Formats: sequence, C-alpha cells, structure tokens
Amino acid sequence: MIDTYKKLPGNNCGECGETTCMAFALRVKSAKRKISECPYVKQEDEGSVGQESVVTMENNYKRVSRELEEEVKRVDLKEAAAAIGGDYENRDGGGVIKLKMMNKEYNVHNEGLFDNGNYCEDSWSKIIIYDYVRRKGDTPLTGSWVSMGHFPDAASHSKAFQKNAEDKIAEKFNSNLSGLVSRCNELEGFDASGELKADYVCGFNLLPRVPMYLSFWEADDEYSASCKLYVDRNADAYIDIEYLAYLLEWFVKIFVE
Ligand code: SF4
Repeated sequence: MIDTYKKLPGNNCGECGETTCMAFALRVKSAKRKISECPYVKQEDEGSVGQESVVTMENNYKRVSRELEEEVKRVDLKEAAAAIGGDYENRDGGGVIKLKMMNKEYNVHNEGLFDNGNYCEDSWSKIIIYDYVRRKGDTPLTGSWVSMGHFPDAASHSKAFQKNAEDKIAEKFNSNLSGLVSRCNELEGFDASGELKADYVCGFNLLPRVPMYLSFWEADDEYSASCKLYVDRNADAYIDIEYLAYLLEWFVKIFVE
C-alpha cells in the first residue's frame, strides 16, 4: 500500500472518486481499484509499483484471495451454509458447502475453494465466494430492486459500469429481443415479467442469495435498445459491493460472448 501511495501525487484531488490518495492506495491494496485509475500516475509507474514489491494486479488478487481464505478457515460452515443458501454436507469429518456461482458448482471447505474436485486457482472466484461465505448475509433480502448507483461504494463508478455492462447487452441485442430471450434461457434465467417495468425482465441467481434482474427495453424509432441490471437493496449484506460490480461485469462478459 505504501509503495502504491508513493507513486501518487498526494494532492487528494478526488478525481478518482476517493476522497484522499491514501484511501485510493488502500483500495488498490485490496484489489478494488487499479493504480492506472488515478489520472496522474505516469505509465512507467503503473508497472514499477508491481515490479518493486512484486505486487502486480494479478498478485494483488492472489494475496487478497489468500487473506480471505485464512478468514474462511475460521468460519462455521454449517452456520454459514444456512445463511447464504448453500447445501451443507459432512464429509470425512469435515464440512463442505456446495453452492453455485453463475450456474457453476463450487465446494467450499475450510481449507479452500474447490471446483470439480480440484483446488480452484482462479483468484476472483475465490475472492467473491470467500467474501460471500464469511459475511453470512446477516440481513434478509428485501425484494426491492436497485441499480448499482444506489450503493455509495459503487456510485462513483456507475457510469463506467453502465458502459462496461448494461450498454454491452443493449448493443448486442439491439432489435433482437428474441435473441436476448434465447440467451437468457441458455443461461438458466427465470421469468420475472411483471416484477419491474420493462419490455422484458429475466432473473438470474448469481449466487444463491444474490439474485439479479436484467431489464431490457426494445429499440424504437427514436431510441436504441437499453438495459439495466438490478440487485436487491440489501445485496451489500451478502457481498462487498465492488466485488458484486465485478461479478455483474463477469456475467455480462459471458452473456454477450
Ligand atoms: S485522482 Fe490520484 S491524485 Fe487525485 S485523489 Fe485520487 S489518487 Fe489522489
């Protein structure tokens, strides 16, 4: 974090969306921001932060996933499973939570995350699932839907989120509602018509207690198609909101591929 901070101008201008350079450096440390998001960091410094301390972004993600893995070692998995909608099983004297993230099955042991019987090497899968497990979602879902801009931690990135996620779906399926519906079905979306006002609404369980609604408005003579992604108002009780933004962008990448 100090290595990162030293590369920042220290003028606390707030243009990155954080109130101070120190707050920004902390976000970089926890892999929630990239140092390149400060407009005053010189390109050569973007790389040198990593080289000096061998803390590249990828290594940063690995480190955060390892830190969260340490926390998961101390979590009561049986209690967590009930809170987060996972299936708990006792196996060989140890507990395991079975859960799906975006239709893919994972097993959470106190020793770590497993996928198809093998230790999962993907840092982001581990970060998201470990965070989800350790929080044990202590607040009920409301059934009331909000966009990412509703959450203070995501508000400063809501324009980027719209560009990187919602607009990508709208562009890909502009004038192709039937294609969108087929893609929703392929990805095991569930019909959510009537839940929100839009030409088409489909629900997805990104994680058992992290539902998302995809709302789509068809193009007309005046406007091209548009899309909004909505999550439960209490989603931040289940997952860090910046990790949720990452998960939604990940979903969109799969959705439009
Ligand atoms: S934009 Fe850069 S200089 Fe300004 S507060 Fe953020 S980190 Fe500091």
